[in-house]
Amino acid sequence: MTEVPSIRLNNDTRMPQLGFGVFQVPPEETAQAVQHALQAGYRSLDTAAAYGNEAGVAEGIRAAGVSREELFITTKLWNSDHGYDAAQRAFDASLDKLATNYVDLYLIHWPVPEQDHYVATWQALEKIYADGRSRAIGVSNFHPKHLRRLVDESNTVPAVNQVELHPRLQQAELRSFHAEHNIATEAWSPLAQGGLLANETLTSLAAKYGKTSAQVVLRWHLQVGNVVIPKSVTPTRIAENFDVFDFELADDDMAAVAELDNGGRVGPDPDEMNVT
Ligand code: NDP
Repeated sequence: MTEVPSIRLNNDTRMPQLGFGVFQVPPEETAQAVQHALQAGYRSLDTAAAYGNEAGVAEGIRAAGVSREELFITTKLWNSDHGYDAAQRAFDASLDKLATNYVDLYLIHWPVPEQDHYVATWQALEKIYADGRSRAIGVSNFHPKHLRRLVDESNTVPAVNQVELHPRLQQAELRSFHAEHNIATEAWSPLAQGGLLANETLTSLAAKYGKTSAQVVLRWHLQVGNVVIPKSVTPTRIAENFDVFDFELADDDMAAVAELDNGGRVGPDPDEMNVT
């Protein structure tokens, strides 16, 4: 069985560098996708209350027969659950659906700046962490100015910031803020939802290494130091995305991928994501 490298979070918890994401996996297909992923070797799973498939994740885990201690489970608090009390209720509901009594990582999904409740929400996550119900806590889609407020107005620096990140949007400024504050960078839509896989730089690197464009992109993330959570419902792709530990991109090839940054997003800018 392939050993996935892990990174050490700022509270000394270890997190696998490659996991499996289930955004947009329909609830009724989630158990099967998760079961395929666990059979392929993934041990880290990324879901969210908003995906509506936490119960499917639990069902896939049961079906695969993998023990809880082997897993790293992440879920996220939705925008309508911000605030100290609401956040704790939302966490209880997620645990219930996931059929577990703790998660490995709990994230605030978006800062929702219009509401401006993310500091109080963060304090609820600090309580959840103190109670041992999440092994680490973090955020998602936070710009440096949002992170700065948590650093200044709370006692805990987020362990992780999960953000849109792929060769088109490499987030240099945010990554250097993370490095300065010991926050791990987790890349969502690491494949830009499949949109950049036909890019010529990537297809020629794929040919050079005898891999696919998706594998080249995932390898680039791993070598940059990102945590990645590619999603697929296709068993061959689930296995392909896990098969990235037997080659290494040379420095000039890493530099060629770095050239692809044009700031292009596939998702919304966090400042504009205020839906609840
Ligand atoms: P990804 O970049 O992981 O791309 C997924 C898409 O690429 C799917 O259409 C999939 O197709 C296709 N694909 C996957 N592997 C391959 C492959 N090897 N070759 C060709 N195509 C491939 O996008 P996501 O947006 O799903 O992001 C990954 C995860 O990040 C999510 O599942 C979620 O867990 C997290 N996320 C978090 C967000 C946040 O706000 N915190 C926002 C968005 C995502 P198919 O499934 O048909 O095989």
